[in-house]
Amino acid sequence: MIKHLPIASHIFEQIAEEFGTPFHLYDEAGIRDNARRLHKAFSWAPHFKEFFAVKALPNPYIMQILAEEGCGADCSSLAELCIAEAAGLSGADICLTSNDTPAEEFIKALSLGAIINLDDISHIEFLEKEAELPEMISFRYNPGPMRKGGNEFIGVPEQAKYGMTGAQLLEAIAICRDKGVKRFGIHTMVVSNELNGAYYAETAEMMFKLAVRIKKIMGISVEIINLGGGIGIPYLPEEAPVDLDMLGAQIRLLYERILVPSGLGGVLLAMENGRLMTGPFGYLAARALHYKDTYKNYIGLDACMADLMRPAIYGAYHHISVCGKEDQPCDMIYDITGSLCENNDKFAIDRALPQIEIGDLLVFHDTGAHGHAMGFNYNGKLRSQELLLGADGKVSRIRRAETLNDYFATVDYPALRKIILAGI
Ligand SMILES: *Cc1c(COP(=O)(O)O)cnc(C)c1O
Repeated sequence: MIKHLPIASHIFEQIAEEFGTPFHLYDEAGIRDNARRLHKAFSWAPHFKEFFAVKALPNPYIMQILAEEGCGADCSSLAELCIAEAAGLSGADICLTSNDTPAEEFIKALSLGAIINLDDISHIEFLEKEAELPEMISFRYNPGPMRKGGNEFIGVPEQAKYGMTGAQLLEAIAICRDKGVKRFGIHTMVVSNELNGAYYAETAEMMFKLAVRIKKIMGISVEIINLGGGIGIPYLPEEAPVDLDMLGAQIRLLYERILVPSGLGGVLLAMENGRLMTGPFGYLAARALHYKDTYKNYIGLDACMADLMRPAIYGAYHHISVCGKEDQPCDMIYDITGSLCENNDKFAIDRALPQIEIGDLLVFHDTGAHGHAMGFNYNGKLRSQELLLGADGKVSRIRRAETLNDYFATVDYPALRKIILAGI
């Protein structure tokens, strides 16, 4: 199967000409269409909400687009709460799903009226001491060894640091109820980048049964069932996307079979996908800077791991298009590298590509989630700009590239300041 660029390569060339390289480009129309597809697939549910996992693409311009499409924000840090707030979200449109949570995150979330997903039973006391218990609390469930599945990114549930056991969750609800908490939600996140919709439906079944159990044992009807994020996207050309309509239909059957007969049909069905919402609609474009021929053929780019870490950390595959060479045979084998003094700073290893010339524009597919966001500044390398291809076809810069001034901003050393002020 061939993976095409949905945006013509001459458009990428024009953008590169105007804005310079490297850049991440996000496709507004693609993000909006996809959000609508997800909402349509769950339009049968009386109450459905996708809380976009802000960490996947923490930029308020993107959050605003998703908010306009009816999404809330799933935050796990202070910065992400600020992005959600800036995009105009508040109250039950924000949830805080954090772990090892510092007090200021709880305090900020409470001030926004956000839904708090407590990661652990011990956080009840912490929250009460540092702030206060809100009227509504949600709890993160870790099913442990009773659940098959889970995958390498999250790990088998009993090895994962997240969430509480079933017994703890029931106890946590009882404790909070006795302390005056009135409304409850349950949450879990057990898969990551999962392309098999059946695993996701299994998660729904597990959570629906947990909600029924809570009602039977404690007489409490939870108001939110959050299935977490983790729906995968097809990074590899031979992979297919999750059929959202089918997933919606599978979850509907479970909802009607398990929840409705127990009087839990009014629940808010929530998800907090990141990757699914923006991953396929982002691209990293960079130019070929060097070619070397040693024991292997290398193409060095003007981007590095600071711009996209997934290949280096996870060995993740990101498809590459060489602009203008779509129809040429892939008869060269290259390692595509960045400039870090780290041998794993490679975007691709032994990749079959058309012959690449210095100055060619390479576009990495599916970088819209956990792409720019993960970047770091090792070696003093600076993260790229982020651009938005608007639904009207206009391109705008939604984050400028970092400068050395940014990098040195935290070091107060006059001689260094002088060098920067002099223009390096
Ligand atoms: C990372 C994360 C998500 C989003 O994961 P995706 O794989 O991007 O969908 C959602 N919820 C929590 C709690 C997370 O940590």
